[in-house]
Amino acid sequence: MDVVPFFDLSAQHRSLADDLLTAMREVALSGRCILGPVVEAFEDDLAKRLGVEHVVAVGSGTEALQLSLRALDLEPGSEVVTSPFTFVATASSIVQAGLRPVFADIDASTWCLDPDAATRAMSLRVRAVLPVHLFGRMADMVAFDGICRDRGLALVEDAAQAFGSTLDGRAAGTWGAAGCFSFYPTKILGAAGDAGAIATDDEDLAEHARRLRSHGDAGRFEHVELGGTHRMDAIQAAILRVKLPRVDRWVERRAGIVETYRRELSGTDFVLPSPPSPGERVAWNLFCLRHPRRDEVREHLLRRGLGCEIYYPVPLHLQPCFSWMGCSRGMFPVAEALASSILALPLYPELEDSRILRIVHALREFDGAHRKRRLP
Ligand SMILES: *Cc1c(COP(=O)(O)O)cnc(C)c1O
Repeated sequence: MDVVPFFDLSAQHRSLADDLLTAMREVALSGRCILGPVVEAFEDDLAKRLGVEHVVAVGSGTEALQLSLRALDLEPGSEVVTSPFTFVATASSIVQAGLRPVFADIDASTWCLDPDAATRAMSLRVRAVLPVHLFGRMADMVAFDGICRDRGLALVEDAAQAFGSTLDGRAAGTWGAAGCFSFYPTKILGAAGDAGAIATDDEDLAEHARRLRSHGDAGRFEHVELGGTHRMDAIQAAILRVKLPRVDRWVERRAGIVETYRRELSGTDFVLPSPPSPGERVAWNLFCLRHPRRDEVREHLLRRGLGCEIYYPVPLHLQPCFSWMGCSRGMFPVAEALASSILALPLYPELEDSRILRIVHALREFDGAHRKRRLP
């Protein structure tokens, strides 16, 4: 059986093999393996591309979140409002930074933090809002920008899944005080290991984050505060520099695949993600659809060798690691309904058209066999 993997990094790396190996070789021979000139060059490339003053390259998206939040210098225990429908790192980073996550439900159409729900969740201890641009769709940044300005709150973006997305020409990750990116291999711009970055226009915040990524070192072993080992490896920066100029082409190909899925699945019982808002360019990181019999759809695809995954099966407020927050089922109905019905299909630039059609064919076969009877 010809198996279609859910994700395939090796296809991308094969197509770039010569350039990647040259870049890695240069770093290895230079002897500068952590930070150094290649990482600085990547920080400059990225700042230019995003249109921000500063980029701080770190070891992962999680570290980008933790250091951004710590660099804000909020009073310990301050509340940060965020989405319960995201990867665990969004909320765990808030706790690791000595702050307290507060969940609010997501918008039923974008699946990102709902500005009205976020506002209702705010107590007197709230100091920041942390929306997530989920699967590439952007949260309503115009609304969050207004809310945070009105109330004097810090706005930090989890842009781990939205490299390349823009709203009114302004990149995801450049709307708030800090934008956090992940270059985990499955992301739109992926390294060959762990890497991440913080984007900001705030020089003090950038300086502070730079210090935190190297154990609070202000230079010459003067440790002015506690930090950690949160630096980007030069080899990852070199790899990312090879890939960065290709990202726009990949984003376009991803959009083309999403169009095919949409076209071929229209008129079926599958609920597709809502199209981009006016002015929004979506760099689709994941393509997820919904179906009430999601687990059977998943079985149906897997039996045919067609990869698929559930992002995310359990919303964060119901995760054991957050049980101390005292949340219960029913608190965030939109997130909970999504978790029980969502399924991600393969989506990467190297995915061949013939394989996309096999996936679509299998889904239509399921739809034909299980279709709700509709009145004429
Ligand atoms: C991937 C991801 C992260 C964490 O990034 P890592 O590089 O894996 O640490 C954070 N938030 C979201 C929404 C992500 O998808």
